[in-house]
Amino acid sequence: MPLEQSLHRVLAQAISAPTSLPPFPASAMDGYAVRRIDWDRDNTMAFDIIGESLAGHPFTGPLGPHQSVRVFTGAVVPPHADLVVLQERVRKATQTTVVFEPHNPDESFVRPVGHDITQGDIVAEAAEQISPFTVGTLAAAGINRVEVFEKPTIGVFSSGDELIDPGSPLAAGQIYDSNRVAVLQLLQSLPCRLVDLGRLPDEPNAVTEKLHTAAGEADLLITSGGVSVGDADFITSTIEQLGELAFWKLNLKPGKPLAFGKINGCYIFGLPGNPVSTIVTLLLLAKPTILHLCGATFAPPMRVQAKVQETVAHTKGRTEFQRGVLREVNGESWVHPTGDQSSNRLSTFHGANCLVEVPGTSGDLQRAQLVTVIPFSGLL
Ligand code: AMP
Ligand code: MG
Repeated sequence: MPLEQSLHRVLAQAISAPTSLPPFPASAMDGYAVRRIDWDRDNTMAFDIIGESLAGHPFTGPLGPHQSVRVFTGAVVPPHADLVVLQERVRKATQTTVVFEPHNPDESFVRPVGHDITQGDIVAEAAEQISPFTVGTLAAAGINRVEVFEKPTIGVFSSGDELIDPGSPLAAGQIYDSNRVAVLQLLQSLPCRLVDLGRLPDEPNAVTEKLHTAAGEADLLITSGGVSVGDADFITSTIEQLGELAFWKLNLKPGKPLAFGKINGCYIFGLPGNPVSTIVTLLLLAKPTILHLCGATFAPPMRVQAKVQETVAHTKGRTEFQRGVLREVNGESWVHPTGDQSSNRLSTFHGANCLVEVPGTSGDLQRAQLVTVIPFSGLL
């Protein structure tokens, strides 16, 4: 596909540079190209000027003894020249001669061929997700088409008879469906085809029929809700009935009732319905799985250590991921959770920039205790 449309796609092959960058010895500064041997011998620091080399307009002739060529940044440094004397060091210059102040240049200011990219170097790896930096580097190497993996199809359902779409007034007992739109937004930058499959009702036959049809058309399905042990929870039993349930329930807070399985070759994540549980398990479990399906190498999100700003209540047992605000205070990293962390409270994401990982083995955290934090920048 064209390089400029390939952002976020996954490279199917490693790419080696067809040319070097720079492809010619290039000047790093504005000045005069000379031979170092002349510079070191010549006490007068005087040189003849035999031409000019501008970016895109090279001077082609070679340089003889005590000759110089006026050069500019990015221009070809002519053959035999190996030093660019900066124009700031000129004492006197006419059209045909230049005299420099005596000094000992600490740098050549000549970028050799391949200084940035050497022909044949691997500039992007197979299974690498194409970033804006990759696009820039590949363009610099002269590449305008890339071979990428196809996009897997990801179908997203929400579930529950209490849900309606935002925009219409609520009837008794109803709430707005937020999980489906949140999940679709959170997956936006992945190299997959996202399909909004609407809502599953709390009725087992309809769930069976819709999941069966969707599994035939997608590579991976995501549902939210209906995986607990209530009378209206049919997702887990339907996965079992139509395919195989790989696991159900994790030692995790929020996200305990998560179900994962496969229906006719299609993977399915039955994410818990509480909005915070849906988002946290999507980020920690479903997203890496989808990236794997996309053909990308999995890089675990960066974790950092920070001190907790206040006592954090935590009961031993499940590993908990709280939403928090990480910031630097006098050179130290401090984090504080965003209030009541109940799994229905989407407001815990307000202003948050990280997940705070409280291990299952830990009790309450005391002020200034070190804790592991996962910035959202590594998860989104
Ligand atoms: P469930 O596991 O289906 O009982 O859902 C757990 C909780 O999450 C219930 O309070 C649901 O109303 C709520 N919930 C489930 N799905 C959604 C959704 N798509 N948007 C907002 N809340 C939801
Ligand atoms: Mg429900």
